[in-house]
Amino acid sequence: MVVNDIHDVGQSRLTFRRDSTFHKELRRRVDDYFRSSDRSPRDCFAMYLKTAIILVVFSGFYSLLVFVAGSWWQALPLAVLLGLSMAAIGFNIEHDGSHNSYSNHAWINRLAAMTMDLIGASSYVWHWKHAVVHHTYVNITGHDADIDISFFGRLTPHQKRFRLHRWQHFYLWPLYGLNVIKWHLYDDFRDVILGRIERTRMPRPKGWELAGFVGGKALFLTLAFGLPLLFHPLWIVVLFYVLTVGIAGVVVSVVFQLAHCVEEAEFPLPQENHGSMENAWAVHQVETTVNFARRSKIESWLLGGLNFQIEHHLFPRVCHVNYPAISNLVEQTCRDFGVRYGEHTTFRAGLLSHFRWLRRMGSRTAGVPQLVIAPEHGPAERR
Ligand SMILES: [Zn+2]
Repeated sequence: MVVNDIHDVGQSRLTFRRDSTFHKELRRRVDDYFRSSDRSPRDCFAMYLKTAIILVVFSGFYSLLVFVAGSWWQALPLAVLLGLSMAAIGFNIEHDGSHNSYSNHAWINRLAAMTMDLIGASSYVWHWKHAVVHHTYVNITGHDADIDISFFGRLTPHQKRFRLHRWQHFYLWPLYGLNVIKWHLYDDFRDVILGRIERTRMPRPKGWELAGFVGGKALFLTLAFGLPLLFHPLWIVVLFYVLTVGIAGVVVSVVFQLAHCVEEAEFPLPQENHGSMENAWAVHQVETTVNFARRSKIESWLLGGLNFQIEHHLFPRVCHVNYPAISNLVEQTCRDFGVRYGEHTTFRAGLLSHFRWLRRMGSRTAGVPQLVIAPEHGPAERR
């Protein structure tokens, strides 16, 4: 099936099945874990230390690239490293801040979330796009903005297939990087002007939020273009902006895609005509999400726990440094309730699954889409 465009939507809100037995038991077990151990769900020392390390590394690479590098062989590796440190900020700092899982103090979460503005995207829009819309409606075509890259790619069985999609498993990888440039310079502004993310209305920023949006964009444009232009010609600055942000974009997009756009993830649609999902919210989160490389300490540290996306989707307000510790509990609870807990044991296995999924979705035999009416919804609650 293919989901129709925004003009055809109704007014009712997308709902999930009312059965919270699984979710309640999960919460009880995880709460028990935090009560019986000396760990805290938020305000973890490991998180503050990690933040300091990543921000120092990011500032170091930025300064070396803009103020020190004098030749292409110095600038090139620095651009790659700067791109990777931007991705690390996204994975580790802003993501937790945006979910209010960094700290019990709202201002610390806000500050952490604003590192998103530092790396080019609006923290205000991202909060709505990711923490609200994506996390509520994950993998629901027409509602989850993460699986919508317009005609460039077909990521779900419910999107229209174009002829060019038969090559998408090759050409999409660099486009993931370019997509982030579009996000910085176009998507954020479009979303604020339209006041909606996919089918969910987003309140337009006002007052301090609007000042934060404008100030964030001004800060990033100054860092990416204004300051470098004082030392380098325009074409060099533009080239290195595209290169650095492109690398960050590919890494960020691929890591997020491995959680939801793989063969093992489900892509359910609302039941026709009444906009309700077959599963309860927590079951939906697990069955649309797949973990990878859970046993790798290095990947867990670098990727901000995004290799534990099942735990993240079930407990978005728990700081990611705790995911390895609660993961076995979550897996066991899924098993007890007959909920499929999907994972790839390595990053490579997840990557290959994403490649195969893209190939399958672009293939001519991937099915002929039909039309279904999906409901529109107002602003969801912040979670
Ligand atoms: Zn998230």
